[in-house]
Amino acid sequence: MNFEEMNIDKEILEAIKDMKFEKPTEIQEKSLPPALLGKDIIAQSMTGSGKTAVFAVPIIQFVERGKGMQALVLAPTRELANQISEQFRKMSRHKKVRICEVFGGVSIEPQIHDLRTAEIVIGTPGRMLDHMRRGTINFRGVKMLVLDEADRMLDMGFIDDIKDIVSALPKKRQTMLFSATIPDEIMYIARRYMSDPVRIMAQRHVEKHKLKQVYYDVKSEYKVSLLLHLIEKENPSLAIVFCSTRTTTDIVANHLEQNGVEAKAIHGGLTQSRRTT
Ligand code: AMP
Repeated sequence: MNFEEMNIDKEILEAIKDMKFEKPTEIQEKSLPPALLGKDIIAQSMTGSGKTAVFAVPIIQFVERGKGMQALVLAPTRELANQISEQFRKMSRHKKVRICEVFGGVSIEPQIHDLRTAEIVIGTPGRMLDHMRRGTINFRGVKMLVLDEADRMLDMGFIDDIKDIVSALPKKRQTMLFSATIPDEIMYIARRYMSDPVRIMAQRHVEKHKLKQVYYDVKSEYKVSLLLHLIEKENPSLAIVFCSTRTTTDIVANHLEQNGVEAKAIHGGLTQSRRTT
């Protein structure tokens, strides 16, 4: 099935075309039709499967501008919440909706301001609960809820926050839950907070012919030299280097910079504003 056959509004189809999505991924093909019918969904899917569009499309399609908050997306981390809202912004290019990001580590005041008018709110459970307790978020008009990477939210200890937030939402709503694994606690949430959910499974969307994996077995003292050599030889437009500790991350980034490679370190020890820039 193509996107054009899915009862997706013209403005969103146009945005999908701008984003160069030619055909739906497996999870999109299986989940978009029931999601667009307003059904509750439990989708077993990973990052990279194209799952964000499964909830972004119906949410953008069904929210009405100027009617206050109607959709809530909960994600485990600020970075994921950011990625999600970036995709919402791209998908709503031709239909103006107001999106508000709500997460900790940044000032709460701008969020309080934006929450007054936003139709779609995307964020992490902790800060969301904070707004709930301060009375700066109004859940009355919420008709769609997404729990993204639900298993990670459980692992990170957000279960009680999630229960508190979901209990404060209107009962009559569509709930869509996405999780890489479906342990018992997720089934418990599904039974308690969802109504007759459709269960969908899909594989990670990877085009294997585009991937090449190589490893080098070298002594620790040669690693940075080898990395510099590889960057020079391959000349990538963008590269990510993973390190085992915060300190190593800083050391490697410094070495690269000193050798003329534009590099920045990112790790949990940095403030939110330094992570974002
Ligand atoms: P997600 O799993 O939602 O984080 O998506 C992973 C990546 O796949 C994102 O960069 C999307 O922009 C991209 N993507 C999602 N759906 C499609 C599609 N149908 N065709 C091509 N790329 C897609």
